[in-house]
Amino acid sequence: MPLKLAIVGRPNVGKSTLFNRLAGRKLAIVDDRPGVTRDRRFGTGRLGDLDLELIDTAGFEDVTDESLEARMRAQTERAVDECDVALFVIDSREGVTPADRIFAEILRKRDKPVILAANKAEGRQGEAGILDAWGLGLGEPVPISAEHGEGMADLYAALAAVW
Ligand code: GDP
Ligand code: MG
Repeated sequence: MPLKLAIVGRPNVGKSTLFNRLAGRKLAIVDDRPGVTRDRRFGTGRLGDLDLELIDTAGFEDVTDESLEARMRAQTERAVDECDVALFVIDSREGVTPADRIFAEILRKRDKPVILAANKAEGRQGEAGILDAWGLGLGEPVPISAEHGEGMADLYAALAAVW
């Protein structure tokens, strides 16, 4: 059985870059809610010997009648409920932001394993952010660079440990 992995987090942390790195096959974008573009993107991929079913969350471009935070919560809760493991991505260069804390709170309340990935960690520029990330209460942050493909073995180890 493939591991269903939902990639969640605030915009611009590198979720889609990570999705693209992990995804061998990208499936159709599903616009299944009115007014929502690219709400979720699906793909299949592989990391080590793990078969992955990937869900990329995105798209707060069309915020119309709901507040951004309500949309963000709804989308995240839905993706997390559908997955086996949630991969929560933060930007280690930016450090932990108020939006990250909202995501962390949502994730702590759901009954799913969470892996905290501190992205953009190449070149040691994210060290302060990685330390900060411990404060989210989601365990050990895994430093990665989705863009440069760094930290993928540690990401594998974290996934294999919960799966
Ligand atoms: P998303 O909104 O969370 O899906 O983020 P994107 O994947 O669209 O990436 C947002 C920006 O961060 C883009 O400019 C990416 O090139 C950049 N980015 C993604 N991963 C990395 C990384 O590992 N290191 C650095 N330095 N930039 C990254
Ligand atoms: Mg994206």
